[in-house]
Amino acid sequence: NDVIGKLMRQHRTLATINQSLSPELAGLVALDYGVDLTIAQAQTLEELLVEEFGSRAPVEENLVTRPPVVTILGHVDHGKTSLLDKIRSANVAAGESGGITQHTAAWTVEIKGSDGQSKRVTFIDTPGHQAFTSMRARGANMTDVVVLVVAAVEGVMPQTIESINHARAAKVPIVVAMNKIDRADANPDMVLGQLAAQGLNPVEWGGDTEVIRTSAQTGQGIQELIEILDYQAQLLDLKADPHAPARGTVIEARIDQGLGSVGTMLVQDGTLKVGDVMISGQGYGRIRTLLNDRGESIKEAGPSTPVIVSGLNNVPNAGDKFYVVDDVDRARQIAEERETLQRQKDLAAKNQTVSTADALYAQMKAGQTKTINLIIKADVQGSVETLVKTVGDQNTEEVKVQVIHSAVGSITESDVELAAATKDVNESTVIVGFHVIPDEKARQLAEQLHVEIRTYQVIYEIFDDLKKALSGMLEPET
Ligand code: GDP
Repeated sequence: NDVIGKLMRQHRTLATINQSLSPELAGLVALDYGVDLTIAQAQTLEELLVEEFGSRAPVEENLVTRPPVVTILGHVDHGKTSLLDKIRSANVAAGESGGITQHTAAWTVEIKGSDGQSKRVTFIDTPGHQAFTSMRARGANMTDVVVLVVAAVEGVMPQTIESINHARAAKVPIVVAMNKIDRADANPDMVLGQLAAQGLNPVEWGGDTEVIRTSAQTGQGIQELIEILDYQAQLLDLKADPHAPARGTVIEARIDQGLGSVGTMLVQDGTLKVGDVMISGQGYGRIRTLLNDRGESIKEAGPSTPVIVSGLNNVPNAGDKFYVVDDVDRARQIAEERETLQRQKDLAAKNQTVSTADALYAQMKAGQTKTINLIIKADVQGSVETLVKTVGDQNTEEVKVQVIHSAVGSITESDVELAAATKDVNESTVIVGFHVIPDEKARQLAEQLHVEIRTYQVIYEIFDDLKKALSGMLEPET
């Protein structure tokens, strides 16, 4: 009763005795009572499966090189879609004369390299940040390399910078496609300079960022781009074990009239076969059909291969992981248990009224947060610069404050997704708006993903809050 009373009075939460609390709220209550609270991270599906079925780690001797998985990012109209279309139609292995036959969320191209070797690259075909950041926000990092498209005419633009920051936050290397190079008004030197200013020093200037001049119109540079991506895969030493139990990530999923639940999935390790028992999200099932990226029926798919899978009893979510196991009854049980767990979690989240600021504070006090990431949005460039410069001075020995993205403009969904994607055990991300507010979609998404947005009209209040947070969370000196 005491706890329920406290929840109501101090945390504005109407609770019953049977109710689950969110970890954040539980943390606050524990603080109220001076109780040490350890919140066990919920067991991931992978951990559960390792416990049940033994190690799923790849076997060293079995490792083979796998193709890189690539996402294209860049400013609107710089040619992401056109470039993807052109790359896809350059696919010699597909043997397609008519080019693109159907849209799939991911596909692989194979070309013959100048060394005579065949080069394969898998593209996630959802240009823009969705495929990349919203997936990351759900804990699914599929991308090995980002291709940043920068039009040689317009050069680096706000969304170019945003894309760079997204790629950096994900620690994914960037290859630049300097597109529209066929245009008479193309200005490559300007673009090289702008890239260097963003810390992407071009190879031709002695740096280490590959900048490939491309044209989605003439096809110039496409072959070179694929070869460079293949080369990046070697540098990154991308390997997988085709004999391991298959696992990977759902890229998109839907209900099909005839086939039921159908998902486009990326195999990341192992080899997926028709007849395999799969668990994904809260669904499970025996794989009925596998289609490749051209819609042809196949029997199996190896690492870095996108496939269209049917046979699950439930539609998984984009970003869900999938795993193959060898016991269909156990798979059903696990899927059902997970469904129940998810329902409880959803309920707890719905009942959560405490602001994430308080949660962050509690987390800091518990000494869990070691880094505060800030995304700074403001109405004018001058304010952005001042804020970025000044918050850097707020670091303490125990806590690092760092700005991971800053720009002029209102707070958007993309900011929220970046914030959610950079949340970690030791990291918290807060979006700070100065004289700007989130748009409706961003506000809703922030609520859904538990991302904190703080808006201010007075600059010193930002520093006040930051100082307060920092002083509240200092770990005891040892
Ligand atoms: P996205 O918004 O980044 O996906 O850009 P799109 O692929 O839709 O391209 C925007 C516009 O630029 C379209 O009108 C394209 O035809 C044009 N475009 C894209 N790539 C090239 C290119 O390499 N050369 C020229 N001349 N035009 C291009």
